[in-house]
Amino acid sequence: MTNLVAGGAGLLGSHLVDLLLDRGEEVVVIDNLLTGRMENLSHRADHPGLTFVRADLLEPLVPEITDRSFDRVYHLASPASPMHYAAYPIETLLVNSAGTRTLLDLARKNGARFVLASTSEVYGDPAVHPQVETYWGNVNPNGPRSCYDEGKRFGEAMSMAHRRTHGTDVRIARIFNTYGPRSDPDDGRVVPAFCVQALNGEPLTVFGDGSRTRSFCYVTDLVDGLARLMSVDEPRERVMNIGNPSEVTIGELARVVIDVTGSASTITHHQVPVDDPIRRCPDITIARRELGWEPTTPLREGLIRTLRYFRATQGPGNPAASRVELAS
Ligand code: UDP
Repeated sequence: MTNLVAGGAGLLGSHLVDLLLDRGEEVVVIDNLLTGRMENLSHRADHPGLTFVRADLLEPLVPEITDRSFDRVYHLASPASPMHYAAYPIETLLVNSAGTRTLLDLARKNGARFVLASTSEVYGDPAVHPQVETYWGNVNPNGPRSCYDEGKRFGEAMSMAHRRTHGTDVRIARIFNTYGPRSDPDDGRVVPAFCVQALNGEPLTVFGDGSRTRSFCYVTDLVDGLARLMSVDEPRERVMNIGNPSEVTIGELARVVIDVTGSASTITHHQVPVDDPIRRCPDITIARRELGWEPTTPLREGLIRTLRYFRATQGPGNPAASRVELAS
């Protein structure tokens, strides 16, 4: 089984690569390293089943890709944190539109299955809670998040158009907030931000009064869901939420991080970013039924593993972090 993982040097991509290699499958990663990081794959550098191709999906595909055949194509290539897609809005729109088309054409040429990493952001600031797949969303089409939200919505539309026109075997995962080791400590997302702040003894920066909610899925649970979606032989559902249905407030998340680290950090409150969704929680009835999938890692346990990663990677230059004793 040969897989193409576009965006394989990112958080989700690198954990998906681990899962596939551990199963004995071949993996080719294509990544332009705009926001992905080579260090996320360095532990696999000598693995005979892994090929890394540094290339941009917006350029014509390189021979290392076109000369190979693939059974499965995963499209995870996109800036994904609000800070990153605000920094690269045009790249974000294009990789989710033109880039999706390129990968769909490749999947079609190979007769390969195709999984699109879509997002809970297609629901925008949701008026339906928890979010079900049949909800069409409440998205600002031209605000600062629109490059990501509308890019992913276009990607979904392109995927389904490809299916209707060419019969391409597409599957769409709407991914909710995900965290874990290999999160980029500088990408501004709430879990890495709070972890690094707590390890450094700095105030945790809660945007707003802390009552906004998210539902955080540990990364290995998440990529297991993606792989299952890819593995279904005759999908009855082609669009499904993949995320953790356990909803927490951002204030509560801050308190858990402080508790687990035993940090002396305080909490400070800051202005909420424009169009920041108020609540977010997936309904995963379809994934449970069709994939037999649900997350199994409790938030506290996932945070401890993530904090261990940050302590190890930030530790050498950061004596404060390396002294932190994590609760168990
Ligand atoms: N957030 C926060 N402090 C931070 C970073 C984020 O309070 O330092 C909040 C943010 O306003 C949002 C939630 O945490 O309500 C999740 O933000 P993140 O950027 O991780 O992802 P999003 O779900 O917005 O894509």
